[in-house]
Amino acid sequence: HVREPLGTVMSPKEILRNYFGYDNFRKHQKDIIHKIISGRDAFVLMPTGSGKSLCYQIPAMIRPGVGIVISPLIALMQDQTDALKQMGIRAEFLNSSLAYEQAKAVEQRVLSGQTDLLYVAPERLVTSSFQYLLSQTRVSLFAIDEAHCISQWGHDFRPEYLQISFFLQNYPGVPRIALTATADNVTRREILAKLNLVHAPRFISSFDRPNICYRVEPRQNAIKQLSDFIKTEHRGNSGIVYCLSRNQTEQTAQQLSRQGFTAIPYHAGLDSKIRMNHQRRFLREDGIIIVATIAFGMGIDKPDVRFVAHAGMPHSMEAYYQETGRAGRDGLPSDAWMLYSLADVITLRRILEKSEGSEQFKRIRQKKAEAMLGYCETTRCRRQVLLGYFDEKLEKPCGNCDVCRGKIETWDGTIAAQKALSCVYRTGQRFGAEHLSNVLLGISNEKISYFKHDRVSTFGIGTELSKKEWKSVFRQLAAAGLLCVDVESKGGFYLSPASKAVLRGEQEVRFRKDPVPAKDTARLRKF
Ligand code: ADP
Ligand code: ZN
Repeated sequence: HVREPLGTVMSPKEILRNYFGYDNFRKHQKDIIHKIISGRDAFVLMPTGSGKSLCYQIPAMIRPGVGIVISPLIALMQDQTDALKQMGIRAEFLNSSLAYEQAKAVEQRVLSGQTDLLYVAPERLVTSSFQYLLSQTRVSLFAIDEAHCISQWGHDFRPEYLQISFFLQNYPGVPRIALTATADNVTRREILAKLNLVHAPRFISSFDRPNICYRVEPRQNAIKQLSDFIKTEHRGNSGIVYCLSRNQTEQTAQQLSRQGFTAIPYHAGLDSKIRMNHQRRFLREDGIIIVATIAFGMGIDKPDVRFVAHAGMPHSMEAYYQETGRAGRDGLPSDAWMLYSLADVITLRRILEKSEGSEQFKRIRQKKAEAMLGYCETTRCRRQVLLGYFDEKLEKPCGNCDVCRGKIETWDGTIAAQKALSCVYRTGQRFGAEHLSNVLLGISNEKISYFKHDRVSTFGIGTELSKKEWKSVFRQLAAAGLLCVDVESKGGFYLSPASKAVLRGEQEVRFRKDPVPAKDTARLRKF
């Protein structure tokens, strides 16, 4: 379709050079492009930043007709198509931000064959004006971007995406390509089934991001830990701080600003003008810290983000991988730094309990949160655990995570575990770490006298550890599945069946010493 003056059709490689300005294809790109050009389907699972867009953009420029790109990223469509237009590529978008006349003009250009790529939101597909448009147009391909949004088991389900399934049934002869940067096994199978791609060729590349250093610390004083981290390691750098709530983003941005950083909030509750403005500033200015909820970041392509910090635990490993993946796209050393606490697990569980959805759905979400906690508490190389979650095996420890670098120390916690577990049992299996630690330490207070917990046999038997250490013990027992958290009783613990072996003395327990503060690890860090 893209013709040189003599009327010869350009090859993919020529388009890559002449339009995109790159000399060589990256891994998989060439194969995928040839598959699509020849009319086949494809499933593409490659990390963010690996160059998935070219895989449908080039075929859409070569095949006759318009390529329809289905994307949930309405806010970015204008930027995306503007960037393509700048390169001389005939791209348009249709979404709710366009006025009626503007949309009509776009449709007109599509109808008269002046468009190679048309970006649309999934909800657009089912409108009658769009269906009419397609009935009058030749479609070269369908690209389903962020395809994991179709999966109810994925971490970013969008109901509008379900419509794509039905919609595509009307176009059996048009090649379709589904692309995502995040999908565990279950999610992958669901995408393939829903988009009828079970027999399509699959292109999956390594998810390792070797330039990202993964680090996790228990949360004590979030703001202090966060500002120490940025001060000592990332002064003047661009970074993203993820918080669990809108409120928290506002407060954190304020507190960081007070300490002299340029920190701005971003969340779905902000006025859309302010939101866009903050996003623009982050993309265009240097050294901006954006403090965001998960609403921020899908499709953000800023190469020099030097750190992604999590003030709380994300709800799944997929989300964690995707969010941390926004660091270091330029390949230079970058940090993925996280604070977590058992409170995060309890918060996530509460949100889940209140949410709609089947029991199965909730169980899967629960498992995802547990996997996330397991990652936080691991004594193995973090990269091995992270990649292992996506069914990818890393043979040797990576040497570029806090576990590999910091020599995580462990201690024999069998006796402490027995004391902690029996304290849970003696107090009726409904109290949290704070109260239980007080009982073990023999601290008398109103709550303890009220429940007569100064008379149970575990009162005061744990003075060998500090309160902080006992809390760490409880957190790690929960992470190891020896204690369960009861949401009904505000996060009280009860014993899991697995705890019996520990109480009977049949199983040894090892705990990790909580990592040293950020200041000390700074010295260890050298990529
Ligand atoms: P993804 O969709 O997988 O997150 P993009 O398609 O946005 O990734 O590409 C990420 C970056 O890599 C873009 O800046 C893109 O121009 C660049 N890129 C893609 N393919 C190549 C290539 N073959 N050579 C060099 N750069 C490339
Ligand atoms: Zn490692």
